[in-house]
Amino acid sequence: MNPFQKGFIEGIIPPKPMTVSEWSDKHRRLSSKGSSEPGPWRTSRTPYLKEPMDCLSVTNTDVQRVVMMFGAQTGKSESGINFLLYTIDHCPAPILCVNPSLDMTKRMSRQRLEPAFEETPVIKAKIAPQRSRDASNSMFIKEYPNGILMLTGANSPAGLRSAPVRYLFMDEIDSYPSDASTSGGVSEGDPVELAIKRTSTFSRKKILMTSTPTTKDFSRVESEFLASDRRKYWVPCPACNEYQVLVWSQMKWENRDASTAKYECSHCGERFDETHKTALLRKGEWRAEKPMTRKTAGFQMSSLYSPAGWLTWPEIVEEFLRSKDDAPLFKTWVNTRMAETFDESYQSQLSAEALLERCEKYMPGTIPESVLFLVMGVDVQGGGGTKGERIEISTFGIAPEEHMYLIQHDVIFGDANQGTVWEGLDVLLTSEWEHPNGGKLKIECCCIDTGGLASQAVYNYCRQRQGLGVIGIKGSSQSGKPAIGRGSRVDLNYRGKAIKKGVVVYMVGTDTIKDVLFARLKFNDKLHFHAQTTEEYFKQFTGERRVLKKNGRGTEYVQKKNQNVEALDCAVYAYAALNHLYQRHPRSKIYEIFTNRLLKSVNSDKNTLNNAKISNKPTQSYVTNW
Ligand SMILES: [Zn+2]
Repeated sequence: MNPFQKGFIEGIIPPKPMTVSEWSDKHRRLSSKGSSEPGPWRTSRTPYLKEPMDCLSVTNTDVQRVVMMFGAQTGKSESGINFLLYTIDHCPAPILCVNPSLDMTKRMSRQRLEPAFEETPVIKAKIAPQRSRDASNSMFIKEYPNGILMLTGANSPAGLRSAPVRYLFMDEIDSYPSDASTSGGVSEGDPVELAIKRTSTFSRKKILMTSTPTTKDFSRVESEFLASDRRKYWVPCPACNEYQVLVWSQMKWENRDASTAKYECSHCGERFDETHKTALLRKGEWRAEKPMTRKTAGFQMSSLYSPAGWLTWPEIVEEFLRSKDDAPLFKTWVNTRMAETFDESYQSQLSAEALLERCEKYMPGTIPESVLFLVMGVDVQGGGGTKGERIEISTFGIAPEEHMYLIQHDVIFGDANQGTVWEGLDVLLTSEWEHPNGGKLKIECCCIDTGGLASQAVYNYCRQRQGLGVIGIKGSSQSGKPAIGRGSRVDLNYRGKAIKKGVVVYMVGTDTIKDVLFARLKFNDKLHFHAQTTEEYFKQFTGERRVLKKNGRGTEYVQKKNQNVEALDCAVYAYAALNHLYQRHPRSKIYEIFTNRLLKSVNSDKNTLNNAKISNKPTQSYVTNW
């Protein structure tokens, strides 16, 4: 036949339908730019990706949506790219690819997609080379015969309102903003819903949603997975051949030594190591927990399945040991390694009665041996003659690795707009505490809340006591704020008049600090309380919990009903004070610096003849100590 006839026949005979995995094994090549294992794609390397990918094939008419809630280092994004390339070559139609932001879209386009196009000859042949003014191939648009790939960010309402698409790939959906609009305050709606609307005109559509999960009850990928048929990957034990899902609780190691990590079969109890992984993955199979509804197939998999050479069991155990005591780190570990959501309501499990048992032997007003310096947090209540007006002060001793010891909590009653309470605070601020090994400690930084009714009085006090390490702070409950921010000058007084040397006020990320403190309460021993710490103190300390915001987007701390929380506020401000010291001294050196300072004070003590022992505890009658 002549070339014309051949082309004609090729045009009318549809190619034999392939699955995404077949296509990828045949055509896909991994670039050295975007992959640690460049060369031809092999589905056998990550056998668990075959089924989710094949659900996206034109040959599969049962599934319309695929949800992948996967841990890191499992190849989930790569399977999304396979889906895109397969579509471009094998069943071209309009595609929309959404990343959490436009910036991430640019990065994905440059670093992942373009190298993938370049390395995969059948795709390279279909996409025009990128030229500067070529609208058919830009960072956000790739045209090919019979279709177009549009790339956008979940923060771009315009991008999400583009033309209809048959195929949709949404990567890392838990990192999408709750609202696509980022400016003007106009609500554009949920970016996931906006993007899905684009597919409504196509009956034979395919939607892929992938993500590592985030916070319990706020995770998009988790709610999509829970609404799916919930498939999990079952693998056989090398010893007894019983199939099971790999779970963290079966991971065992000895004496905090991650290199000894082994998996214990939940049936026969045999322990086996990494070397069995390749065989396990090959013999594995997805099993659904529920019948399928809404044509949605859901897949969940932790990084315990990450193929040999990518992320090992000992590495995951090592990361666990490193992160378990630090709430934000641990949350990331749970999300990205276990592919599970994180329950942030842990502090609600802490009861004041249970915490009473955590009181240690040291007495209030005394310094435990490991403490190297002191910080203070001050909460101001009322002012100007309001009921119950007072200031509350927590003094904490700081020991290496951020161990915090409650030294004492004081309440000074009185109007913060009058001088008396401040005189009382002066007594505490200028006190010296004797260290059990000799030498004396004093307050290195004191944070006072400026947010109450007596702001002006607090500003005045902070300005006059700068030399004593006193700073004014203002709490911000916005999530993701640093423990303490840069200071900014408060230039107006209460009459609206500019103050010559306006006092500097520091923003404190109260929710960030509460997350840290509550995690420490729950997970470890970094918070210490003296022998006489009262139940009321602990009630106040645990007087807030994280709940769903009224608009349902994210969580916030709210006070429990009829519960004061001054003790918690004071601890938050004291932790802010510690973080302010990190702004002045390098974090890695801070314990060394204060050890040297303490040693110096020991020596100067020795040099003072008749060094009289004086009590440093304030004895003023208006100071109540508990
Ligand atoms: Zn077994």
